[in-house]
Amino acid sequence: MPITTPLPILQPRKLFEGKDYREVLRREMDAGKIPLSLGKTCPVKCEFCYELDHSYRETLEPPKTSQEDWQFMLEYINRKPTDPQQFWCLGGNEYMEWTDLFLHPKAMEWVEDFLKYTDKNLTFFTVGFVHVPKIHQLAGQYPGRINFELSVITLGRYRQQLMPHAPAVKHLLKVLDGPAVSSANFYSFDRQTMSDDAREISKINQKCVLWMGCLTPVRGLKDDTAALMRQGRAHLPEEAQRVYEAGLPNLQTIHTEAPITAFLNRRRIVSLFDSLELEKKDTIVMGRSVYKVLTMYRKNRAKFLMTPNATLGGDSDCSVLLTFDDIARVLNGHKTIHIPKCVMQSGRGLYTDIAGVTLEDFMKKTGVKVKVLHKIDTKFANQRLYRSGLLKNYVEDYVRNPLATAYERSEDRD
Ligand code: SF4
Repeated sequence: MPITTPLPILQPRKLFEGKDYREVLRREMDAGKIPLSLGKTCPVKCEFCYELDHSYRETLEPPKTSQEDWQFMLEYINRKPTDPQQFWCLGGNEYMEWTDLFLHPKAMEWVEDFLKYTDKNLTFFTVGFVHVPKIHQLAGQYPGRINFELSVITLGRYRQQLMPHAPAVKHLLKVLDGPAVSSANFYSFDRQTMSDDAREISKINQKCVLWMGCLTPVRGLKDDTAALMRQGRAHLPEEAQRVYEAGLPNLQTIHTEAPITAFLNRRRIVSLFDSLELEKKDTIVMGRSVYKVLTMYRKNRAKFLMTPNATLGGDSDCSVLLTFDDIARVLNGHKTIHIPKCVMQSGRGLYTDIAGVTLEDFMKKTGVKVKVLHKIDTKFANQRLYRSGLLKNYVEDYVRNPLATAYERSEDRD
């Protein structure tokens, strides 16, 4: 399908002009975040960081969190009802930039405050700047209330290149050695990278989830970093088989690769598509992977408008993260299109995409009528992702499945 000349960029409305930074804090807390701030961009400067270019969304960095700000946050959060299923996330990431908050000198103390003065659960991500043994002590003292996702990334030979300012491997192994870490994420970059890390981590901690996969290049990354990520993707099948054959006791998951997730969920995607009862002439917007699945199983049952993730750039391939601007760029005389609801369920509000553009703005500016596919929502997308995310499924139903080879080779376009 030909791509038309790019339309004018759809600009989101500015939210924070003339507003106090506490407005950002409130918005983040209303979305279940604990918006501590370092008052500057993340000093760790990992080469793979997805926040290197986040110009697609408006952010406003609050000043470094003070004790007064923290009291304000604790009181605000305490007024919210407690949901035992909810885990409050340390760090705002919708209206603020993502960073490693354990670099804030008071972070450990405030984590303890949160556990002590609220009855809510807490989730946090860090490349490892936590205080050992304090973090193990807190995990022991507040069982079930902490979800600690340790971003190991890699313990091996590419660590220095990718994250020269992150904690040393020796420190990470101490963080892993105890009850604190719920899940450790690390990735394939080459032969004997992810699989070596899986064995090493499992030797120390048999309880944490091993969250594996590969990193996806996005806009703003250096060429050699993107090349290393792609090399990792090429090695993922063999690396995953090594882990599979190692028979480690930990729960093992593979995530982050949209084409794999879409293929592993092909039956569910196809049955959901059938339940939409679309007609052949209807045009439906989708990302590259879902497009591949539907052209494989439901060719010509509707018009599939394959939409690249131009906003995020790189090798991004995710229907949930499409923007209205991406969709505007592939329009070609369409009068009416169908868009999955998950595109407009971002943290920036209902019927709003990840950049902050609303459905209403899109229709007004493009003149195209939109029918929202309500059944394809983020709940569906997330449930799918998790249910088929086991490494075992990936090896048995993807790596060792000849159909998957045909799928990988299938063309992106008709
Ligand atoms: S620590 Fe996290 S936020 Fe900071 S540069 Fe690394 S990946 Fe990005």
